[in-house]
Amino acid sequence: MASLQCLMCLNLCPHQPAARLHGFRQRRSTTTRLIFRVKCESRGSSYVDEAATGNEKKLKILVAGGGIAGLVFGLAAKRSGFDVKVFEKDLTAVKGEGMERGPIQLLSSALGLLEAIDKDVAREIMGAGHVTGDRNCGLADGRSGEWFVKFDFLTPAIVKGIPITQMICRMELQRLLLNAVGEDVVINNSKVVDFVDDADKVTVFLDNGQQYEGDLLIGADGLRSTVRSKLFGAHEPNYSNFICYTGVAEFDPQHLPHFGYKVFLGRNQFFVAADIGKGRLQWYAFVKEARQSPVSSAGNKNMLVERYGDWCNEVVNIIRRTQENMIIRRPIYDTDMMDTWGRGRVILLGDAAHAMLPNLGQGGSIAIEDCYWLMVELQNLAQTRPMSDITSDDLASAFRRFEKKRMFRVRTVHTICRMASVMTSVYQSYLDIGPLPLFKEWSMRVKHPGLLITNQLLQIALPKFMDWVIAGQE
Ligand SMILES: Cc1cc2nc3c(=O)[nH]c(=O)nc-3n(C[C@H](O)[C@H](O)[C@H](O)COP(=O)(O)OP(=O)(O)OC[C@H]3O[C@@H](n4cnc5c(N)ncnc54)[C@H](O)[C@@H]3O)c2cc1C
Repeated sequence: MASLQCLMCLNLCPHQPAARLHGFRQRRSTTTRLIFRVKCESRGSSYVDEAATGNEKKLKILVAGGGIAGLVFGLAAKRSGFDVKVFEKDLTAVKGEGMERGPIQLLSSALGLLEAIDKDVAREIMGAGHVTGDRNCGLADGRSGEWFVKFDFLTPAIVKGIPITQMICRMELQRLLLNAVGEDVVINNSKVVDFVDDADKVTVFLDNGQQYEGDLLIGADGLRSTVRSKLFGAHEPNYSNFICYTGVAEFDPQHLPHFGYKVFLGRNQFFVAADIGKGRLQWYAFVKEARQSPVSSAGNKNMLVERYGDWCNEVVNIIRRTQENMIIRRPIYDTDMMDTWGRGRVILLGDAAHAMLPNLGQGGSIAIEDCYWLMVELQNLAQTRPMSDITSDDLASAFRRFEKKRMFRVRTVHTICRMASVMTSVYQSYLDIGPLPLFKEWSMRVKHPGLLITNQLLQIALPKFMDWVIAGQE
């Protein structure tokens, strides 16, 4: 592995004046181990230090799934000089052909790590996104629209020197990643159906009858992961009791509500809206409904206008400004946290390991963080001995170190996402006093005492939590 890494050898590089650090660079913290890969570029052509390359055996990595985790890991593996193959069952889904799946929020923590993996690709991604973390972001009451608590996305990013949280179209993100990884690495129409983990290799079986051998297998095949089922047994994901409706509303830019990311809370329903640029707002309406509940005959838009009818104008306008045919409806699931994410030569990443509820918009960022920290462990392992000497036990130890590093953070975010969902089920902004119209009017203005207490608690705890989430892990 030392082969493709010109480790801390800037002085030896023949192209030193034009040398640029690529891939894993030194993070600002001194606690992070130093791993550099130097790619030296002379104008127009790229040069990888051949002397260091040699003909050593490369670690052969097989990845099941080419979503966010599979593609980012594929990129990190490629930039680290590993031999990687990503099997994706359906690239048209990754590219979003025929289906608009809307933008997602990428946190500073994930953007910083993307930069560390590949600065150029990270820049392209950020160029395609829309910064939201520099404006008002936080929780508000759904009926009044009043801010309940604001998150500071900006300060932790500035302090840490990492990019500011932004929204990006999921399909654009995946397209840029796919371009960077290359369609020679990402193999289409390749559904992983099984694998066998032997003492000296892992073999992956595809539904088209092909099979591939590698040193390790990464299960990045999402919520209903085949790799996870084969490792730990089949478990249905947990239905959250919420159906999520998503859409994009179009505004004249001068009438666009002024926030970056706003979560409107209500009882048994909540609504998330984010500015995605060019006068458009991406929104998610989470509604407590049975999973099998029928689709509204009045159409999703009319149903939502009715359901959110007594909420603030901001929310109602956003729904009204969305075309019915652009609204997507889907049940929301998560999976329980496990104590381990791998066994032998196999390890899970992203949603395959720990699918979380999307109410805080974190799952994709956490998946990117997973990719970075697993790659750090693999690089560290590759520095200790030649590839040909790396055993199953070495890989298993690297996986356990990765889990140790990640488990607390992932579990905390996973738990907070669940708590946020429970909070919506009991949320009550105003006291419901008296059946008389007079009292009803009055009750509208009396805030629920529980809310005041929660507010105080959140004002103290949330800034710390958000700091920690946004700044990422050292
Ligand atoms: C409504 C909603 C909103 C969200 N908003 C945000 C947000 O704003 N920010 C954020 O960070 N996260 C958000 N998330 C979470 C985020 O979408 C996921 O956490 C993220 O997609 C996980 O990436 P992944 O690669 O692990 O899984 P996936 O994105 O699900 O990718 C898995 C890939 O594996 C492929 N695959 C599956 N099985 C196989 C197989 N057997 N063989 C080969 N390929 C296979 C699939 O086709 C897919 O391409 C949201 C989620 C939802 C539902």
